[in-house]
Amino acid sequence: MEKRKILVTRPQLPPLNEFIPLLADIWESRWLTNNGKYHQEFEKALAAYLGVPYVCLFANGTLALMAALQCLHIKGEVITTPYSFVASTHALWWNGIKPVFVDIEPDFCNLNPKQIEAAITPETTAILPVHVYGNPCEVEQIQNLADIYGLKVIYDAAHAFGVRKKGSSILNFGDLSIVSFHATKVFNTIEGGAIICHDKKTKRRIDYLKNFGIADETTVVAPGINAKMNELQAAYGLLQLKYFDTVIDARQHITKKYREGLKHISGIRFLEEMEMVDHNYAYFPIFIDEMEFGSSRDDVFEALKTQNIYGRRYFYPLISEFPTYRSLPSAKNLDIAHKISRQVICLPLYPDLPDEVVDTILSLLDDMFQMNSKKISIKILRQSQRK
Ligand SMILES: *Cc1c(COP(=O)(O)O)cnc(C)c1O
Repeated sequence: MEKRKILVTRPQLPPLNEFIPLLADIWESRWLTNNGKYHQEFEKALAAYLGVPYVCLFANGTLALMAALQCLHIKGEVITTPYSFVASTHALWWNGIKPVFVDIEPDFCNLNPKQIEAAITPETTAILPVHVYGNPCEVEQIQNLADIYGLKVIYDAAHAFGVRKKGSSILNFGDLSIVSFHATKVFNTIEGGAIICHDKKTKRRIDYLKNFGIADETTVVAPGINAKMNELQAAYGLLQLKYFDTVIDARQHITKKYREGLKHISGIRFLEEMEMVDHNYAYFPIFIDEMEFGSSRDDVFEALKTQNIYGRRYFYPLISEFPTYRSLPSAKNLDIAHKISRQVICLPLYPDLPDEVVDTILSLLDDMFQMNSKKISIKILRQSQRK
């Protein structure tokens, strides 16, 4: 086997020979950013592909999230999950909003809708859930609570590009959803992101906000920021879109191989398909129960490294454990999130990951399992002999 480092992901790029003519065209036009031809075309193509009404492109997902909060005038307290990438909560912090962490549910690691209500105070203005690993949150229950309490819902859908529930894009739920096109995500424009919104007026407002609040030559309507996507990224994104279906097929193939190879190993849990959901197979997290498997998550992490294979502990530590947030009252009592973050490791998953690497990972885990089972049965034997 090749001795290249195998990382948890490897960015998918469009064919270079298809990108070069687009670059030549951009060079010729000298229109590099500010809602150029490729930007407009990419927004339309994305809306059509995803099956959503409006797409507003951004320089990255974090700025999209910050602008989404600005767009809806969110302030006070926002209920969110500790089990995510830090940007989810940082976006609140940058808007002067107090994050209120609520625990996750154990099945798919998303914000637990049953615990949201108890965290609502008179200061609460919104809920910021994350479709973790691209698996949809309990969107109906969350919307129901938001309707009762008059709260906005902004989804951090950074992992959920292309995911559908009952045939409709998961990005159609909530008031706004944001996606990320960072190099490590299922769909990348190197860096990039978008806000998905439901109506034209909201799109216009978001488009102002990402361009300094400029409405025309002499009018600035809001204290906007600069969060625009450039023409090179938009052209690159248009090409990526052409190949996205094949990317999903390849990811599904690897996911199935992992599931098949792990199902007989007790003490390792993985996530199954959800009913009525078209998945994007963005990540393959496994959860190690140390008592049952006989080795800890970190043992597995280290064992993989000896084979030059680098899993990632998404999400460990929890956001609520970082210095900025750990003194918040809501940073305590997040038992499920705490437990899961100590069990999780995401295995490598990307379209051109060779089958042999998947086999190496599976046999390593199987070897650990067999060895641990022997140790455990010897221990039980000794204990019974002692009696
Ligand atoms: C990647 C990610 C972001 C941030 O997106 P960027 O495009 O990297 O700024 C936000 N939230 C989650 C859950 C992410 O995984």
